[in-house]
Amino acid sequence: MIKLKNPEQIEGIRKSCALLSELYVFLKPNVLPGVSLLDLDRMAEEFIRERGGKPAFLGYEGFPATLCLSVNETVIHGIPDKRRLVEGDIIGIDSGIELNGYFSDAAITLPVGSVSPEAQKLMSVTRECLDRAIEAVMPGSRIHDISRAVFSLATRNGYGVVRQYCGHGVGIDVHEDPQIPNYVSPGPNPRLIAGMTIAIEPMINAGTASVKVLDDDWTVVTMDGSLSAHYEHTVLVTKDGAERLTSWSF
Ligand code: MG
Repeated sequence: MIKLKNPEQIEGIRKSCALLSELYVFLKPNVLPGVSLLDLDRMAEEFIRERGGKPAFLGYEGFPATLCLSVNETVIHGIPDKRRLVEGDIIGIDSGIELNGYFSDAAITLPVGSVSPEAQKLMSVTRECLDRAIEAVMPGSRIHDISRAVFSLATRNGYGVVRQYCGHGVGIDVHEDPQIPNYVSPGPNPRLIAGMTIAIEPMINAGTASVKVLDDDWTVVTMDGSLSAHYEHTVLVTKDGAERLTSWSF
C-alpha cells in the first residue's frame, strides 16, 4: 500500500532528509586515499547520533553498519571493513537516517583522488540518470516514466541497468511501496500522486547488467567485474512535479 504523507509527516521527513544531506557534506572531504571503510562508517554513525538521529540501515534486516560502502565493481550493500581506499577507486556511499520516527535515504558515488575517464563518465551518466528520473515526475506521470528515463539514458551510453534492485517509497519506513525499477517492468505502474515520498536510485554498470551476491549475503557485485555507480535522492511528489528532499550542496 502506498502511504501518502500529510503536511506534518512531510515536515518530519524533510528534517530527516536535511540531516542526511549534511552527513554527505561532512563525509565528502574524508573520502581520500588511505581512509578505511570502517573509519568512514564510524564517522557517519557518530555524526548522526550526535544530532539526535539513528542510522536507519544499522540492524535493518541484519545489516551491520551505518553506511553501505560499495567500491568499484561493488554495486550496492557493501559492508564497511578494514579496506583502505586507493587513488582511482570510486565509492558508492548509501545511507539512511531515522529522525523522530521519519526516514530519509540517499546515495552518491564519489571519486577517490583522480579516476579514469571511464569511471568519470559512468558517474556523470548515472548522476544524469537520476536527474532525468526526477524531471520525469510531473502531474499525471507514472512509475514507468521514471524507469524509462533511467533506462533510456543508461542504455544509450552502452551501460547495463541493474534489474534486481530498485527504488522505493520511503518516509514512515525505510522501504515502502511502490517499487521503482530502473527499467520498464511488467509490474505495477501506479500514478505518482502529490504527497508520495519516494527514493529514486539508478544503479548502473559499465559492463553488462548482471550482478551476483557475495557469500556475506549482502555485497552485490557486477558479474563481469566492471565498475558500477549508484545515486539516490529522496523526493516529494508535489502537485506541480517533484521536490528533492535530499541534496548535495557540493
Ligand atoms: Mg534506497
